[in-house]
Amino acid sequence: MSQDVEIKENKTLDEFTKLQDLSSLEGLGGSFLVCPLDQYNVFSKENFSEEQKMFASTAQDFAVNRIKPVNDQLKKLNKDLSLELFKEAGDLGFLGIDIPEQYGGMELDKTTAAIVVDYLSACECPSFMVTLSAHTGIGILPIVWYGNEDQKKKYLTKFATGEWMGCYALTEPNAGSDALAGETTAYLNDEGTHYILNGQKIYITNGSWAEVCITFAKVGDKYTSFIVDKTCEGFVIGAEEKKMGIKGSSTVTLYFENCKVPVENMLGKLGQGGAIAFNSLYAGRYKLGITTAAGAKYTIKCAYDFALERKQFSRSITEFDMLKNKFAQMVVRTFEAYTVSYATTGSIDFSISKLDKNSDDYYEKMQKIIEDHAIEASIAKIVGSVSLAENADDGVQIFGGAGFIEEYPAAQIYRDERINRIFEGTNEINKLIIGGTFLKKAILEELPIRDQIYHRMEDYLPALTFSGDHELSSEISVIELSRSLMLDMLHRLILKYGQDLKNEQWALEPLADIVVCFSVMQMGFARYNQLPDGEHKKRMNCVVKYSIYRNFNILKERINMLVPYICANSEVGDVMDSINQRINDLKYIPDAIALKKSICEELYKHGKYYLG
Ligand SMILES: Cc1cc2nc3c(=O)[nH]c(=O)nc-3n(C[C@H](O)[C@H](O)[C@H](O)COP(=O)(O)OP(=O)(O)OC[C@H]3O[C@@H](n4cnc5c(N)ncnc54)[C@H](O)[C@@H]3O)c2cc1C
Repeated sequence: MSQDVEIKENKTLDEFTKLQDLSSLEGLGGSFLVCPLDQYNVFSKENFSEEQKMFASTAQDFAVNRIKPVNDQLKKLNKDLSLELFKEAGDLGFLGIDIPEQYGGMELDKTTAAIVVDYLSACECPSFMVTLSAHTGIGILPIVWYGNEDQKKKYLTKFATGEWMGCYALTEPNAGSDALAGETTAYLNDEGTHYILNGQKIYITNGSWAEVCITFAKVGDKYTSFIVDKTCEGFVIGAEEKKMGIKGSSTVTLYFENCKVPVENMLGKLGQGGAIAFNSLYAGRYKLGITTAAGAKYTIKCAYDFALERKQFSRSITEFDMLKNKFAQMVVRTFEAYTVSYATTGSIDFSISKLDKNSDDYYEKMQKIIEDHAIEASIAKIVGSVSLAENADDGVQIFGGAGFIEEYPAAQIYRDERINRIFEGTNEINKLIIGGTFLKKAILEELPIRDQIYHRMEDYLPALTFSGDHELSSEISVIELSRSLMLDMLHRLILKYGQDLKNEQWALEPLADIVVCFSVMQMGFARYNQLPDGEHKKRMNCVVKYSIYRNFNILKERINMLVPYICANSEVGDVMDSINQRINDLKYIPDAIALKKSICEELYKHGKYYLG
């Protein structure tokens, strides 16, 4: 075991094994990993405030009545219409949600910002959503967080109204996932008035429409961020890329050819570019979780409407059980994507609400809170993008041959969704973040993960405060056993690899998958459990049960894969026997088919996704 991962020796095993009060961890990134179910709450759609509901309704109204009727015209590049709609979104306040009031915005909480993109997604036009989200996220946030007073006044006021559009240019030909390997350079001119940038940035969303570009360049060896106006001499916009999907959004290469950027346009400090680049992406990730959840929801409706009309063997194809199976799983995935994304914004807002808005370091602290939720942001991004991908694939299958024909909507959904697993950090990079952050939070004791590891060794299924006849009592045991197994896997991995675990991708990927599955179970249960009794809760019952069933199966499969890989040959049998014994002791054998039948029946009653 490497030195820095040893157990703190001043703690006795007894201290480790005490079940602590962990509810005080609420609002900390990663708290779901250690907080037992009876000490854990999540924010969810059911908790929207009246004001948030109002934003949802206004956004949906604009999406359905203004954008959706013209979204056929946005299937290919249509700059004029895109900018017109963008400006109208600005007039309605949708572009200024994260911008402070003194610069023309509303500076609302992160959940409201997520709600706006969630309900705007009712336009069912991913191209427009990508345009808008790139502006409100990675375009605007770097200036909100790192800009000085003059920069905020100059840019944010115009960003809020939509008079100016922003873009964020990080990726280079030789620096994609390895973003800090960028080769773009900047040097101060002899007069000391301008930085001279040379290099290129590829695949830049909004690149040809934006007035302003946040970019990154090395000044000597210091990776630094700049705000580049499109009017800067030497700023050259390349041709539009021909893309697989989101064809109505602008994606170009930007060239800096001795590009003259005024010194006052350096963003943040010299050498702060890496932090600016990465911190801006976290917020983009959980918002992508929301927009992909919304996409997953609309895909269900689209497939259902088609299936209802389509007749084979003298009946609607909705009557075939194999299609019911698909629809049920589409509902469950959508539920999962929404659950983890709003759990993330809620936890971030909980912590931000405790900050003093008037303090000088307000934005620094806000951004630290968002960074602290890196693990949740990556989970939201993965769960959302995979849910939409699988729903889109099922959607094509439900359409049959029509799913392959461009005249019908399924093919476009299938092409448009593909980018979500690639940008905002590929899903592989996000898995590295999940595994790496779990390891880091354990080693640095940012969370009592190691305490819990030792506690769970003594008591792998601690008694919780739920009543014995809780309707999900089997699921409670499944989740708590899963937590013990997840912590056990981390413990074994730390013993084997120490900090090098972050470079052991064969082991890190299954560990990340386990964390993702576990988070979905924990957050899904918490969302359900906090609901008042009633119809909504009843409808969610089968969904949350099936979600736990399917995620537990994936988690078990990943453990089966990990144990033989990381344990000595002589102990693999015993370790697996002990794990299987604990699983068997649960006697957890839900009727998964009955659950899916009920979920589908409910879907057919509503004719659309029915959980918000
Ligand atoms: C339509 C579109 C819009 C975009 N918009 C923007 C934008 O606005 N601004 C911007 O800056 N960029 C943008 N991008 C770029 C996007 O963020 C990158 O394409 C993405 O980060 C991946 O980088 P890459 O293409 O160089 O792939 P690579 O980094 O070369 O990755 C190729 C494959 O290798 C895998 N891989 C790479 N490194 C690792 C690793 N360490 N471990 C495991 N697997 C790894 C990846 O997951 C991927 O599967 C956009 C891209 C597209 C297609």
